[in-house]
Amino acid sequence: MFFRDVIGNNELKRQLANSVDNGRVPHAQLFYGKQGVGQLALSLAYARYLCCQNRIDGDSCGTCPSCVKFSKMAHPDLHFVFPIVKPDSKNYTSDDFLAQFREGVQENAYLTFDDWMNMISAGKQGYIYTSESENIVKKLNFKAYEAPYKVMIIWLPEKMQESCANKLLKILEEPHSGTIFLLATENAEQIITTIRSRTQQHYLPPIPQQKISEELQQKYQISSSEADFCARNAMGSFSLAQKLINDTKRNEFFLEKFVSLMRFAWTKDFLNLKALTESLEKQGKMEVKEFLIYAQNMLRENFILNLKNLQLNYLTREELNFSSKFSQFINERNIFQLMDEFQQAEVEIDQNVNVKIVLFDLSLKICSLLKK
Ligand SMILES: [Zn+2]
Repeated sequence: MFFRDVIGNNELKRQLANSVDNGRVPHAQLFYGKQGVGQLALSLAYARYLCCQNRIDGDSCGTCPSCVKFSKMAHPDLHFVFPIVKPDSKNYTSDDFLAQFREGVQENAYLTFDDWMNMISAGKQGYIYTSESENIVKKLNFKAYEAPYKVMIIWLPEKMQESCANKLLKILEEPHSGTIFLLATENAEQIITTIRSRTQQHYLPPIPQQKISEELQQKYQISSSEADFCARNAMGSFSLAQKLINDTKRNEFFLEKFVSLMRFAWTKDFLNLKALTESLEKQGKMEVKEFLIYAQNMLRENFILNLKNLQLNYLTREELNFSSKFSQFINERNIFQLMDEFQQAEVEIDQNVNVKIVLFDLSLKICSLLKK
């Protein structure tokens, strides 16, 4: 992460670079703002700049030995503390999850707490546990290996258990020379005030819509109108904008599968139905369940559309396009049974019945129900 990769916040980036250039680096700094404005991204860019041996024009060089190590997030003077889960009663620390953390952040420096939890624990709640404080102290006892500074980035310090927060407070009260703490938070008010008051605080405001849109177009190769739409609804959060893009892509995927399922069922094209169920199965159980829920929504909306009750309709333009012709086949003679069959499929998948069999069975039932 370079300063130039951090979206917006140009004035703040300039100030931070200047303070490093002038050798005035506070030992504890807090980057705060709402979720998705780039607290972690900016901490990473700032840490890289601190350690870069050949800073140019207010940013890191990217080629010095320090920058090369930063690109892999594996510099011996760069340390991370972040929320984790404990799979058992052992005293785990951030270091035990470091490989996954590096992977997640390198893929997306705007990842959210939820993204991270999904990566390591299928949605459990994580914390920075008491066992982490010993790890922090241990790391501070070493001198910086290579860089002029030793940097510790604490991502989401608001997730710290109380005893760990108290330990950190003690450390911040007696700064170790050469150690810089960078705290990246989404909920500054949840951090104990005594810690907050020990830090220099930098506020990251919501990112301007235009900047989010430009970034989305570049990163996802999408049209300006699609990017504008997501940027408008992201309310200054790049993380939320990314989620909206992914939801849109997923919706498109589900629609495509739904259209195929109905088309092949209508024409009794069993060969293609079989291929379709196999391709769905490859998405994994969770995705198949999501698809079944999506399909039920589509059926309900098509039934409503058939009743010509357009105000009650919540379809995208593409969905409406398909449904304007398809809805005539969804009526009071089949809607309830169709919904029942989809729900039944959901239940069976939960009961670990083979996904391919459940889906193929379902598609055969749709064949006869569509003709009613
Ligand atoms: Zn460099």
